[in-house]
Amino acid sequence: MIRLTDVRLDEHALALVEEVLRSGQLAQDRMVAAFEQGFSATAGTEHAVATSSGTTALVTALQALDLQPDDEVIIPALTFVATLNAVLESGATARIVDIRSDDMTIDVARVSEAIGPRTRVLLPVHLFGCPADLPALEALAQPRGLRIVEDAAQAPGAAVQGRQVGSWGVGAFSFYATKNITTGEGGMVTTSDGVIADRARVLRNQGMRARYEYEGIGHNFRMTEMQAALGLAQLEHLDEWNDRRIENAGRISDALGPVKDLVLPITPKGRRHVFHQYSIRVKDSSPVSRDSCASALREHGVETGVYYPKLVHEYPCFQGNSRVVVDDVPAASAVTRQILSLPIHQWLEPRHLDHIAEATCLVMAG
Ligand SMILES: *Cc1c(COP(=O)(O)O)cnc(C)c1O
Repeated sequence: MIRLTDVRLDEHALALVEEVLRSGQLAQDRMVAAFEQGFSATAGTEHAVATSSGTTALVTALQALDLQPDDEVIIPALTFVATLNAVLESGATARIVDIRSDDMTIDVARVSEAIGPRTRVLLPVHLFGCPADLPALEALAQPRGLRIVEDAAQAPGAAVQGRQVGSWGVGAFSFYATKNITTGEGGMVTTSDGVIADRARVLRNQGMRARYEYEGIGHNFRMTEMQAALGLAQLEHLDEWNDRRIENAGRISDALGPVKDLVLPITPKGRRHVFHQYSIRVKDSSPVSRDSCASALREHGVETGVYYPKLVHEYPCFQGNSRVVVDDVPAASAVTRQILSLPIHQWLEPRHLDHIAEATCLVMAG
């Protein structure tokens, strides 16, 4: 079976973890500081604050902005549940808007319409590794004094006009097991705003400024030294691995180009899309449905994924929640029916990619 995710740790990663284990210093210390320093260079920010997960990175970023229950955070309808959970955890109201059907990131025209007196934060998600239209979002946010928080969980190393994601707004990254680099569980907040970075560090550590001096309600959102060792070792390979994902996407797109019932992922001009997922869409008019395509691919030894089978607000647990406000989302509703992710990771060889493409062509031919 060709899997969607394949984690391979090299000797350097194992050696760094062993160094931590032998040192006996397992909780946040020098290795975390080194990973933060390395990651801030990657994101092009002055500060990076490591956390226990991508979700807690988002919560930390939002809580650092001190949001009130009436404050609105605008998020896209197609995203992982963590985006919405983090907004609700921060105490604010989530306003859910539509996505663009071409690159599947938040639709800036819809964001513009949704902005009102209660809006405080624009929270784009760089879905599948494709950066949202950050220059357009910045142009909306800046004159209105709004903050941008980027859900960059799927997009370390992605950029727009040569400027890294996570440096346009406050960035939140994830190092969960399936992400482009992984520490098993882990996350990072990035910012060049010293005040936000300082708040994030205090929030992550029980609201503690100095030993047993508490400034407010905080959490334990710290990363361990073992996680940081894994992250530090993989950071060296991030650019090369992302390049491989981009190359792999090109090879599959070339082969799938002629399949008329599919819409292939695009990379908008000026953006570096790092292909956390290679997500095709099976058109509604296709005689082969998305779900039958997925099960036929499985029979050909190709694992696929549906990200996501429903829009984030469609689960019963969020219905009737007065802090979840939903706009019209026709594009996102169509994409959620059609979307299908094929394996694209850096360890796939040309023969695997050719097999994935051939099997997809065969299956779509009915
Ligand atoms: C993975 C992910 C998160 C959450 O990260 P965790 O590390 O799993 O907590 C948030 N948003 C998006 C879009 C993600 O893909």
